[in-house]
Amino acid sequence: MFADNVEKVLISEKEIVDRCKELGAQISKDYEGKQPMIVGLLKGSVPFMAELIKYITVDCEIDFMAVSSYSGTESMGDVKIVKDLDCSIKGMDVLVVEDIVDTGKTLEKVKKMLYTKGANDVKIVSLLDKPDRRTVEIEAEYVGFTIPNEFVIGFGLDFNQKYRNLPYVGVLKEECYK
Ligand code: 5GP
Repeated sequence: MFADNVEKVLISEKEIVDRCKELGAQISKDYEGKQPMIVGLLKGSVPFMAELIKYITVDCEIDFMAVSSYSGTESMGDVKIVKDLDCSIKGMDVLVVEDIVDTGKTLEKVKKMLYTKGANDVKIVSLLDKPDRRTVEIEAEYVGFTIPNEFVIGFGLDFNQKYRNLPYVGVLKEECYK
């Protein structure tokens, strides 16, 4: 069974759901009187976004965007839009939903792109944060869990496009990628 490749469960499904309830309550409070556009970054944000929006109680819209990072010989190159937003975000308060903030490069570029498209305000909510890996100055306004520098899978996060459907966040066995 594919779950046999999980070394350990880092964050359980219950912990994620409970945290989504807390984040949803905080976001609802902070966006009171506003109608945010909630933008999920495909594909990793899907399970987290689906859980989180259940607990957001202000009127909102949702949309999705997919970006890909092109690596040069050493460092990561530019971030390109692979699937653009369907809706206009001109003048809107945008809340970007991400699976994990690692180096921060993806979100730094996405944030700039969204402001270029006319967003009034751009904030970030991320299920996970690996602050030790940051190379650019960017922080998510809302973070589910801060984790150590380990490669994690599940709840949207993949290894070679697999394991996104695990209902928890876990660490992959070393033998799977060594
Ligand atoms: P950043 O631009 O912040 O370095 O990269 C963010 C992206 O890298 C995430 O959206 C995710 O796709 C990928 N990533 C970073 N760390 C991990 C990890 O531990 N596990 C998985 N599965 N993906 C990761």
